[in-house]
Amino acid sequence: MAVETRRIILHSRPGVDKPPTESNFALDRQEIPQCKEGEILVKTLCLSVDPYMRCRMNENTGAAYLTPWPLGEPPLGGGVGKVVQSRSHKFLEGDIVESFMWPWQEFAVLSADASNLNKEESPFLCSHPSLLLGIVGITGLTSYIGIKEKAHIKPGAEQAVVISGAAGACGMAAGQIAKLEGCGIVIGICGTDEKCRFLTEEMGFDVAINYKTTKNISEHIKMKCPAGVDVYFDNVGGEISNEVIRCMNKDGHIVLCGQISLYNEDVPYPPPMPQDIQDMLKDNNITRDRFLVLNYMEKFPDGKKQLEAWVREGKLKNRETVVEGLENTGRAFVAMMSGGNIGKQVVRVAEVTS
Ligand code: NDP
Repeated sequence: MAVETRRIILHSRPGVDKPPTESNFALDRQEIPQCKEGEILVKTLCLSVDPYMRCRMNENTGAAYLTPWPLGEPPLGGGVGKVVQSRSHKFLEGDIVESFMWPWQEFAVLSADASNLNKEESPFLCSHPSLLLGIVGITGLTSYIGIKEKAHIKPGAEQAVVISGAAGACGMAAGQIAKLEGCGIVIGICGTDEKCRFLTEEMGFDVAINYKTTKNISEHIKMKCPAGVDVYFDNVGGEISNEVIRCMNKDGHIVLCGQISLYNEDVPYPPPMPQDIQDMLKDNNITRDRFLVLNYMEKFPDGKKQLEAWVREGKLKNRETVVEGLENTGRAFVAMMSGGNIGKQVVRVAEVTS
């Protein structure tokens, strides 16, 4: 019997230098074909909305590893679902599966052989599927691998770490993981007082700075951290990052995670920096290599195990902003891009028990 599904399609592109809007997305219905041999029918449980998707809304994404989303088709991104029908020996009905190529629709037929489709084996994660999109998924892995590979944290050296975009998915994890790895003071930069309280009262950050209300961010950092900044986990770029770099010590390290403040602008990635900031990096021997978590896929299985263990032991705290209903996926994406989320923004499409 054919199944009808509701789906979200990309209706229009925002243009390379404009913020995305809800009207860029539209809801429609489609009859999906029967499962053929080697395919599975899945019911979507939750979807991820992420900043990189903004590039996929452009005709030219500016990144070789990202293809543009076609107009009139459902966007593809991180998703978790339950197998409701299987015509493959690889999956059984009831299995929980995840992929980073999940279409924004309630039901979908997927190829059981797709290399991006993974069956989840952990009972804990199967009953908390949204964690697979955040703290134990790509954003948690980005923070964990980014810190491990690029931050050069030496336990006992009391290194001062600054995180921008600190109250978001990567940021909240990066600050906590830097502490777990043995750094000294952790300072988070974010966009509201509520987010600042979340960082210091719930996530164990030592200091939080609201970049929208703080006049001179570098002066503020220097006041809280007179010995200077050793590591900067950069999620946002732009003027916030220039202010942090002005406080950095010789031989410091930047984890160049993302530059969200410039994603609605027509600039290359990574965006150009002012000459005085480039000189500062060079004169002070500060590393700033491009970091892309997808280049470390061989580290995902161990990283995921470590993240799940920390979450279950209560050492790594998590927060999600959950929007209910497939029809609100576009809204959730637009809200996340403009700071509407605390922690990981997810969309709950169906209950895991449904
Ligand atoms: P978040 O959960 O952090 O959500 C995005 C946040 O960005 C918003 O909540 C908002 O918080 C902040 N923001 C939006 N616009 C601006 C602005 N103009 N200036 C400063 N902050 C802004 O998203 P993620 O954790 O998923 O992603 C964080 C970063 O990590 C992104 O740059 C993303 O591209 C990058 N990333 C990189 C990966 C890699 O492999 N290198 C993998 C995954 C993510 P606020 O209220 O504080 O403004």
